[in-house]
Amino acid sequence: MKVIKTIQGLRRELQALWQKGERIGFVPTMGYFHQGHVSLMARSVRENDITVVSLFVNPVQFGPTEDLSRYPRDLRRDCAMAKAAGVAVIFIPSVKEMYPQELSTWVSVNALSEGLCGASRPGHFKGVATVVAKLLNIVQPDTMYLGAKDAQQAMVIKKMVCDLNFPARVVVCPTVRERDGLAMSSRNMYLKPDERIAAKALSGALFAAKKDILSGERNALKIISKIKKLILEETGASIEYVSCVSATDLKPVRRIKADVLIALAVRFPSARLIDNQLVILR
Ligand code: AMP
Repeated sequence: MKVIKTIQGLRRELQALWQKGERIGFVPTMGYFHQGHVSLMARSVRENDITVVSLFVNPVQFGPTEDLSRYPRDLRRDCAMAKAAGVAVIFIPSVKEMYPQELSTWVSVNALSEGLCGASRPGHFKGVATVVAKLLNIVQPDTMYLGAKDAQQAMVIKKMVCDLNFPARVVVCPTVRERDGLAMSSRNMYLKPDERIAAKALSGALFAAKKDILSGERNALKIISKIKKLILEETGASIEYVSCVSATDLKPVRRIKADVLIALAVRFPSARLIDNQLVILR
C-alpha cells in the first residue's frame, strides 16, 4: 500500500490508472479506523480495480467548540488496517496541503443540510461538502463509498454529486455495529465505561421504533416520545434531537405515510453520538 501526502504525488500515482480506464473506488475518512471504515474499504476493493482511502481530519467541518484538537488519531494502526483490507493507496494530506490559502469557494447544499445535525452544527455540512468536492476533483474516482451511519451526510453528498455533475457513483453502505447494537464510531473511544454501557440504549430505542412502525404505528410524535423516554431512562445523557423525517427530503413528518428516517443525536458528558434507522414501508 502506498502512503501519499501530497496532491501532486497522488495525481502522479493515479495518472496511469485514469488513462487505462481502471475502476477507482474511493473512501473518504477522518481516520481512527474501526470495522465500519473497513467495511467500506472491503466493498470498494471488491468492486474496483484499485481503492484509494483519504484520511484527513477536516478542520472546516468542526465548529469552534467541537472536538477538532482532540479528535483521535493513530496513523500507524490506520495504515495497517487499510493495508489488510486491500487498499492500494492511502492519501494523508496535511491541512496546509488541502487549504494552502483561505478558501473563497464553498459548496453549500441547501435544505438537506438545515435540519437534524445541521441545526446544532452550523457550517458543518458546508465544510463536509466542500472537502468532499475537493477530494472528488483530486481522486476522480468511479465510485465513492459512504456509511449509512451518517445518513444526512450521505444524502447531502449525493445531492452535491448530482447537482454539480461530479462523474462519480455514490454507494451508501450499511452501519456496522458493536455486539450490543452501538453504531461503531471513532468517537466511541471518548465514552467512560458507564457511558459506553448506557449507550446501547440509542440503538435499542431505534430498533424498537422501527419495529413499532413496521407493526403499524403511524404517529411520528408517539414514536419520538417513546424513543426519548427509553433513552432518558437508561442514560444520563441529554438528547439533542430525536426526529422522524421523510427519507427523501429529511423534512419532519407527523403521520408516517412513506419511508422515513428516524435519527437522533445524544450528548453524553464525554461524547456526542448519532445514530439512525431507515424504515422502508412495504
Ligand atoms: P469518518 O471517519 O467518521 O468521517 O467516517 C468515514 C466514513 O465511514 C463515512 O462515510 C461514515 O459514514 C462511514 N462510517 C462511520 N462509521 C460507520 C459505521 N459504523 N458503519 C458504516 N460506515 C461508517
